[in-house]
Amino acid sequence: MASIQLKGLTKAYGGLEVIHGIDLQIDEGEFVALVGPSGCGKSTMLRMIAGLETISKGELSFDEEVVNRLTPTERGISMVFQSYALYPHLSVRKNLSFGLENLRMPRPEIEARIAEATRMLELGPYLDRKPKALSGGQRQRVAIGRAIVRQPRVFLFDEPLSNLDAKLRVQTRGEISRLHQQLGTTMIYVTHDQVEAMTMAQKIVVMNGGRVEQVGRPLDLFERPANLFVAGFIGSPR
Ligand code: ADP
Ligand code: MG
Repeated sequence: MASIQLKGLTKAYGGLEVIHGIDLQIDEGEFVALVGPSGCGKSTMLRMIAGLETISKGELSFDEEVVNRLTPTERGISMVFQSYALYPHLSVRKNLSFGLENLRMPRPEIEARIAEATRMLELGPYLDRKPKALSGGQRQRVAIGRAIVRQPRVFLFDEPLSNLDAKLRVQTRGEISRLHQQLGTTMIYVTHDQVEAMTMAQKIVVMNGGRVEQVGRPLDLFERPANLFVAGFIGSPR
């Protein structure tokens, strides 16, 4: 687990600034939702925190240690994407073990981690199947399992439910919340869905146009929105 500090975090693509110097503190073990309309910079923020995107300006720290130049593996993050990004030609078991084998982890440790993820996500019946023989919800559980086996310091989710139908969204939402309760790992969860954010997060960061409009607990944002944008975003039906 890690706390995360952002100081003046800025991103520009070819001279065009899209993230304008964001300051943010995320506590160890906290579940934080990053919300805002499409194009406001949520994915860019998450990718900078992950180490998948360079930081143009500013400082990113995990546990007060600057990580700007560290790779995702060195930062100890796991990321779950909207599109499951599973290896189609590999079984579920192999999808879970692949990354760990690349890290040259001893076999018994790999097996133990797979067993734990399998138990937590009830993946047992699917271990020998290929991704194409799974439903969307099952695939996303495998993707979450692949994030778990790395035992990251921080989990990063980028709209992980948006490819699922309404019923599966609710179910998978519950699974991710349960994971957070069981593991207690710091989680940053990107969504454009305010209902997801309100029901899952301990802290919500409302973004708009590459800036943070407000940070607060769900109830605080609901009862005391800082401005009309936050009020409209939190209050509007999806
Ligand atoms: P969100 O995830 O909130 O929908 P993004 O982080 O994907 O928003 O995008 C934020 C802004 O950055 C958008 O204006 C988008 O067009 C721009 N952007 C994102 N990725 C790139 C890129 N690789 N090159 C240029 N502009 C980009
Ligand atoms: Mg996005």
